[in-house]
Amino acid sequence: MHQTAGQVLLVDADDTLWENEAYFRQVFEQFLDIMEARGHLRSDALDALQSVERERCVKHGYGSRNFARSMDETVRQMEGETPSKLMQEIDALVQWILDHPVEPFPGVAETLEDLASRHRMLLVTKGAHQEQNDKVERSGFARWFIGVEILFEKNAEHYREIVARNSLDSSITWMIGNSPKSDINMAMAAGLRTVFIPHRTIWGLERQPFTREPDLVLTQFSDLRLHF
Ligand SMILES: [Mg+2]
Repeated sequence: MHQTAGQVLLVDADDTLWENEAYFRQVFEQFLDIMEARGHLRSDALDALQSVERERCVKHGYGSRNFARSMDETVRQMEGETPSKLMQEIDALVQWILDHPVEPFPGVAETLEDLASRHRMLLVTKGAHQEQNDKVERSGFARWFIGVEILFEKNAEHYREIVARNSLDSSITWMIGNSPKSDINMAMAAGLRTVFIPHRTIWGLERQPFTREPDLVLTQFSDLRLHF
């Protein structure tokens, strides 16, 4: 069904508009290579890093620099300390993520331009403020959004706060994204409608069964034009 004009579209950025998780995966694998070369079992390093990330993200949020700190903490747990040469290697891996060009998915720019002609759109992402802002700026997509929200965490409370602050009507407000946890379940809990657009890579911490089926499930971002 095609929605009438005048909907409010809250749009996730990482792995919805552009590639992101793939870069972290690549660095994750490189880190495991390093740990293997230092005599550790790959599976031990993997388990340790995942458990460090689970703990640290709750307290410190997301983003590349935080990922560097998680790798540092993993080495310290496994070896007692992180040699400064290894710390430099970790920082270089993460700098590669920070410097990576923004790679939007096919048709994203045209779709945003088209949707912006009929609907109000807010970009809603989570992570480190400067890192996320920098990506938005480099993408050139900001002009199609009435605002950019960078959250420490995407939870129901923060979604409700966005709705209240922007005086949105939640019955015509949709959260669109690739994460079952952050974009779908939490938005549903805040009373929003949802569009799930899965990406081939999903971070383990974002995986979660749906509390209820999303209103729409699409295979690619450009399909939004068929519904909005
Ligand atoms: Mg995402």
